[in-house]
Amino acid sequence: MTSGVILTLNAGSSSIKFSLYAAGDEPEEQLRGEVEDIGDAQAYLIIEPDHGNKTRIAIGPADHAAALAAILDHAGDALGGRPVAGIGHRVVHGGTDYAAPVRLDDATIDYLTTLEPLAPLHQPHNLAAVRAARAAFPDAIQVACFDTAFHRAHPWVNDTFALPREWYDRGVRRYGFHGLSYEFISGELARIAPDLRHGRVVIAHLGNGASMCAVRDGRSVASTMGFTALDGLPMGTRSGQLDPGVLLYMMDHEKMTSAEIANLLYKQSGLKGLSGISNDMRELEASDRPEAAEAIEYFVFRIRRELGALAAVLGGLDGLVFTGGIGEHSAHIRRKVCEGMEWLGIEIDDAGNAGNATDLGTAATRVMVIPTDEERVIARAVNAALNG
Ligand code: ADP
Repeated sequence: MTSGVILTLNAGSSSIKFSLYAAGDEPEEQLRGEVEDIGDAQAYLIIEPDHGNKTRIAIGPADHAAALAAILDHAGDALGGRPVAGIGHRVVHGGTDYAAPVRLDDATIDYLTTLEPLAPLHQPHNLAAVRAARAAFPDAIQVACFDTAFHRAHPWVNDTFALPREWYDRGVRRYGFHGLSYEFISGELARIAPDLRHGRVVIAHLGNGASMCAVRDGRSVASTMGFTALDGLPMGTRSGQLDPGVLLYMMDHEKMTSAEIANLLYKQSGLKGLSGISNDMRELEASDRPEAAEAIEYFVFRIRRELGALAAVLGGLDGLVFTGGIGEHSAHIRRKVCEGMEWLGIEIDDAGNAGNATDLGTAATRVMVIPTDEERVIARAVNAALNG
């Protein structure tokens, strides 16, 4: 059993989220935080010990390597002189090959680099952090954990698009994302709701990014995200499902470039685009403007529609789990999603819902609120690698 420290990294274009765990039977969280505004004139390190008060420190301009150095400079107390024995990376795309975490070596990194066109807004930044961490810790074990991995056992019919076959072989598939969150929730269900272990469960991960996943026997059988993390539900700034004809219209008629369309679909759409107010659900719930109510209405409408579709894929429903920032905290959204869903066995207790209680269901289908913890899934994978 190793006594070292596990570092987890979740790197985006302008931020790196991190956490430190003590390795052991079950990794024990010491600290978590984030470097934000990477690439700007001034980056900031935010440290959050024990989910407590946050400290925000200006660290000057930083790339991913400098951000990592700043994290290590300031995390000295949490390290307590113990070496960083393993580093776990959130890597959005594992392609068709990886259905589980993988130890990172030159060949693996080369393969993951070839997947960059499949996730151009995430994968290059994930791999920048991998390279920085390998340079800073040449002796530590490095492990990649993939958002696609949990979905790799999808049946073919949910993995394909109705394009000519060669596109499937060329990797144009429905990969599905948020897999680390779904894996965590499935583990929690096995622990706190073992009656659902072999059941038909829909997990709704509703955060800035949002998707839903149908799980049976603890495995993903369908999800709302597809080839990229754009599909499915509307999100903070992402459009969600869109008729592909819209893209043709934008290109041919509006003469928009792919970069302009990408910016529109990833950054200007979703709750932000529909409301014209904010991508933040708290602000929309607090607003009395009709556009805010309409953005919420569309968000809820799509969740309910997907819930029906995923329940049909599963052939019924035994459990519905809410997670992610909105799923865990917004009683309003949960209430709206569950209204009139008696036909799916869904009824919820208002007092429990108002208090974000774990168990809300009062009818046949269990309805639960379970906080997700993607970092812990990564830390566990590194811990397992360290323990051989
Ligand atoms: P990310 O996908 O970036 O990890 P989160 O899972 O933290 O995001 O979710 C962020 C979303 O959760 C934001 O839209 C935020 O407004 C929403 N949220 C957080 N707390 C509440 C709350 N109490 N009520 C409504 N929405 C909330």
